[in-house]
Parts: sequence; C-alpha cells; structure tokens
Amino acid sequence: MFNSLSDRLQDTFGKLRGKGRLTEDDINTAMREIRMALLEADVNYRVVKKFVAECKEKCMTAEVLESLSPAQNVVRIVLDQLTELLGTTESKLVLAQNRTPNVIMLVGLQGSGKTTAAAKLAYLLKRQGHSPVLAACDVHRPAAADQLETLGNEIGVKVYRGDGKDAVKVARESIQSAVDGLNDIVIVDTAGRLQIDEQMMQEAVDIKNAVKPDQVLMVVDAMTGQDIVNVVSEFANRVDFDGVIMSKLDGDARGGGALSVREVTGKPIKFVSMGEKPDSLEVFHPDRMAKRILGMGDVVSIIEEAQRVTDQKDIDDAERMLREGFTMDDMLTQMQQIRKMGGLKKILASLPGGERALQQAGGAVSDEQITRIEAMIHSMTKQERAKPKTINGQRRKRIAKGSGRSVQEVNQLLKQWSEMDKMMGKMRQLTNGGGNSRKARRQMTNMMRNMGM
Ligand code: GDP
Repeated sequence: MFNSLSDRLQDTFGKLRGKGRLTEDDINTAMREIRMALLEADVNYRVVKKFVAECKEKCMTAEVLESLSPAQNVVRIVLDQLTELLGTTESKLVLAQNRTPNVIMLVGLQGSGKTTAAAKLAYLLKRQGHSPVLAACDVHRPAAADQLETLGNEIGVKVYRGDGKDAVKVARESIQSAVDGLNDIVIVDTAGRLQIDEQMMQEAVDIKNAVKPDQVLMVVDAMTGQDIVNVVSEFANRVDFDGVIMSKLDGDARGGGALSVREVTGKPIKFVSMGEKPDSLEVFHPDRMAKRILGMGDVVSIIEEAQRVTDQKDIDDAERMLREGFTMDDMLTQMQQIRKMGGLKKILASLPGGERALQQAGGAVSDEQITRIEAMIHSMTKQERAKPKTINGQRRKRIAKGSGRSVQEVNQLLKQWSEMDKMMGKMRQLTNGGGNSRKARRQMTNMMRNMGM
C-alpha cells in the first residue's frame, strides 16, 4: 500500500535535499513531481489540484526559500498538508453514554470486507472491555451469516441470526437479544451488492430507521482507487454515515481512495484494516499514516502495540533474563511476541525507512523466518534450550535434521542467541553497577536519557 507513491515522494525530497538552497524553479519542479505521483496513485484530480496548490503557496515564501534548511521545510509542509488531507486528528468512534446497547451499523458494497470488519470491530471493542453482539443482517448472501458465526466463535462474541430472512426484523431483535444478554454494543452487518442498487439502499435505510444506530460506518475497499468517491458519495446521499472503515490496506492498492475519500465526502476514516486476522483492525491516525507515506515510519504505533502485548509476566521474564541470562526459551517467547505484534514485516515497516528497506530486501524478510527459528528451537532438548553453549557439532546436526533446516541455519541461530546473551550480560553489569560503578551509572543515565525517560 502506498509503496509507489511513497517512493516517488521520497525521491523528490531526496533531490531537494541534495540542492541546499532552493529556487522557485526547484519548488515548481518538486510540485510537478508530487502532482504526478498523486495522480498515478489514483488520487482524485480535484483533490490533487487543491493539495498541490496549497503546498506550493506555503513553500513559495521567503521564509521557506531563505531558511537554512529549505528542503526540510518543504517536507514538513507536505507532511502537514498530507495529514490534513487524511483528517488532521484521530476520529474517534462516538458511543452514546446514555444508551445501552449502542448500535453500530456497517454498510458497503459486497466484497468490501464488511462481514470481516464487523468481527474485527467486535474484537477491538471486546479488547477495550465492551461486550458486543454481532447481528447477521446480511440475509441475501447465503454464506454471510455462517461466516459471521465462524468469526464470532473465533473471537468469543455472540452472533444473533434470527430467522435469517427479514433483515430489518433480525436487526430489531438483535437489540433485544443484547438487552437480554447484558451486551452493551450491537454491531449490525448488512447486505451489500456488487454495485449500488436501489433495493440494497432501501434495505439499509430501513434497517437504519428501525434500529437508529449511534454510528453508521461505511466499509470501503482500499483497492477501489478513486472510483470509491462515486460509491461513497452515493451512500452518503442515501443512507448517510459517520465515518469510513478502509479495508485491505495491506494489499497493493495505490492509495488513491484512502487519500481522496475525506476531502471529497467530508467523512473521516475511522478505522483501517490491514489483514484478514481478527486483530488487524486499527484506529486510523492521519498523522501517523502521513508519516508512513513520507517514509518516516510509525514508531508510536509500534510502541503502543508492544505495550498492548506486554504483561506482568513479560516484565518478570525480563528481570529474570537480567539475573540469570538469556535462554532459547526466552528467544521462543520473543518470537511469539513478534507474532502477537503483527509479525516481522509489520514491525520493520513501522520504522523510519523500513518500508523501503523491506522492498529492497525483496522477499528476504518474511514471517517464515520466525517459523524456521521456532522449528529449530522446538528441536532442542530442554537442557539445550536452557544452556545453548552445550550445543556441540553433533547436536547441531541433530537439531538441523529434526527441524528440517540446514546446519548453517542452526549455527546462525546460535550466533544470534550468543549476541543477545552478551547484550543481556552488558545490561546486567549496568544494572548491578558491576565493575566501575560510577561509569556504569553514568552509562545507565545516558541510556535512559536517550530513551526519553
Ligand atoms: P463482505 O461481502 O463485504 O461482507 O466482505 P467479506 O468480509 O466477506 O470480505 C471479502 C474478502 O476480503 C474476504 O476474503 C476477506 O477475508 C477479505 N478481506 C477483508 N478485509 C481484509 C483486509 O483488511 N485485508 C485483506 N487482505 N483481506 C481482507
């Protein structure tokens, strides 16, 4: 997603940075390049025109042109404009305080990812302490209710199916079912068609009138490009909705739809879906997305994700590792943490320049690496995991055979372990104040200062 756009914008900025001072011609050239990059990403032409005009106006000031680092100022201006285009601030899901259950209704075309999004949203709300119910009101697609039920079982959320025939009735009854079950939110999945049609729109309007949702969210497939603008406008006119869930952002969509939708319809993107798994729905942060597009990474999200998957046991583990050393079991736990945070690729992509590095690495970075490491560790005995230093040549051969990997790979894993163990040793010295304790304390203070503590 956004890869090609991101590359082109970074190339443009690279050229500007190489120049030192900037002339008006340089800005004109850069703006032309930005315009082309956005058009090729399938951003709506009206949006592009306005975006470039505003960037240009802000860049063509003496303040920018005569500043000490003009290129940096241009990047900052484009970043701010891009953030504004995407929505400036995070757009929260507004739930009514004085109504139980709250009702959230999802609308959209068939295949846009509505049913999956309903389950993902339920899972996200469940993680926040809510008790949602899913209402299977897509009574036209035969497998939709079964699909929702399967997803509901997977995430431990109740699915109300009713008679599976009358969507309005199912929606109405699902609310009573939530009241009876003490559930505080109902998420209504509705029917979609391949294209907009009158009957579908009318049914959505009827459901809306019947259950009076607190929030109507439109699920939009990011792959649709700027065509999305027509579909979204049509829904806005007929059903009206409060915000967008942009699905399939993990795919290779050029980004046009995501960048156009807010400007054209005035509706904010509230959530983005980055995969098929239940935990792949995220609150949309325009500023973070803009930074990602400009290759600046999204470190804040990855820190939040790390905090989400960290619990008291992990803190205890970290303390034990400092005291007793780093074992292969600890390495296994780390691999599981990486998985919980969405995988290696996702973490790397969140670092500044990470997306580009991933592209350059081709398919070299993949979560299969984690699977391989896990397989090798699983082929070790309990003692070997606790004391990897005892793994000699013969044992290495056995582990390689057992895990279906090569001896070189086992060697590499042991080398990785040894480096991490050494690092733990250094940290242990620092925290114990071992050796030169004043120096150690100073190092520790510096380390903490660097970490912003
Ligand atoms: P609906 O017809 O709108 O209910 O669409 P579905 O929820 O059945 O989704 C259509 C297809 O898109 C399914 O195969 C989903 O697994 C897939 N899908 C949905 N959201 C995402 C996403 O964010 N990323 C990816 N890669 N696939 C998705």
